[in-house]
Amino acid sequence: MSETPAISIRNLVKRYAPVAGQDAKLALNDLSFDVPQGGIFGLLGPNGAGKSTLINILAGLVLKTSGTAEVWGFDIDRDLRNAKRSIGIVPQEVVFDAFFTPSEVLENTAGLYGVIKPLRRSMEILRAVHLGDKAHAYARTLSGGMKRRLLIAKALVHEPPVLVLDEPTAGVDVDLRRQLWDLVREMNAQGVTIVLTTHYLEEAEELCDRIAIINHGQLVTNKPTRELVEMAREKIVVLTLDREIGAPLNHPDFIKCEKLGERMIEVTYDKDRTNAGEVLSHVQDEGFAINDVTTREADLEDVFVSLTSAARPGS
Ligand code: ADP
Repeated sequence: MSETPAISIRNLVKRYAPVAGQDAKLALNDLSFDVPQGGIFGLLGPNGAGKSTLINILAGLVLKTSGTAEVWGFDIDRDLRNAKRSIGIVPQEVVFDAFFTPSEVLENTAGLYGVIKPLRRSMEILRAVHLGDKAHAYARTLSGGMKRRLLIAKALVHEPPVLVLDEPTAGVDVDLRRQLWDLVREMNAQGVTIVLTTHYLEEAEELCDRIAIINHGQLVTNKPTRELVEMAREKIVVLTLDREIGAPLNHPDFIKCEKLGERMIEVTYDKDRTNAGEVLSHVQDEGFAINDVTTREADLEDVFVSLTSAARPGS
């Protein structure tokens, strides 16, 4: 029997009303996918893809135009209260009242969620995000990294089974990024299903066991990370030849061949099917000598670019 997905969306459409001189904007265009329970799910897409719109719909902050969305099996139309209780959203921006302490921030948030005092676990949650010793310090005295961890703690106050982080590491330095990644892994190990939006491929590849890519409000792909990485098995060689070439060369082993200059070509091949030596000998068979060779592996970035560079659908 299959488990209820942590999040399930079907045919979700969001059309923003036209604003001052601008046309209506189709931000989500018939989007459907499931986030399974228990993993770290990456929602990836370039700026403007529709990631925040989707999260804001799940958080009850933006009204969808049509389609359905469920969180932990609770439909956001029929049971918004339980849907909201099942999800914690960590926003991008750090906004706290500077004169509250982390402990007060959590107590206030728990109050808003209606968590009664005996059930509040503020200290435990602060310890989980490594802020136990800062429980009674003013928020304004916390470092940037501590403030981000407090945001995560705040989203956990009502102990939701799903935690959504919206661009958790946008604009943070490498050290802090690593710390936040560790924290996300710790939360996940404790059983929280994580969804994170990011436009950093490296982040998605490092953290997520599954990645959905959206572009122009549509699903481009939704696969286990290792399958996506597997798609990055193309290799590229750039060859400088001894003389000018006319048209790019053709060979069944080449995925493609492009002319970069009068004497320079770039050949893309499948590294599981052939190798650079073979590619070079095919070029030599055409009567060219090779003056210089550089090679490059396609990475997830290339896969992302090729998947998201498809023509924009009509909106
Ligand atoms: P992402 O989070 O992936 O960058 P968004 O969900 O913010 O994408 O935006 C998706 C599209 O919807 C963009 O074209 C954006 O300009 C548009 N959009 C977002 N919010 C609004 C709004 N409040 N009013 C009108 N258009 C909006």
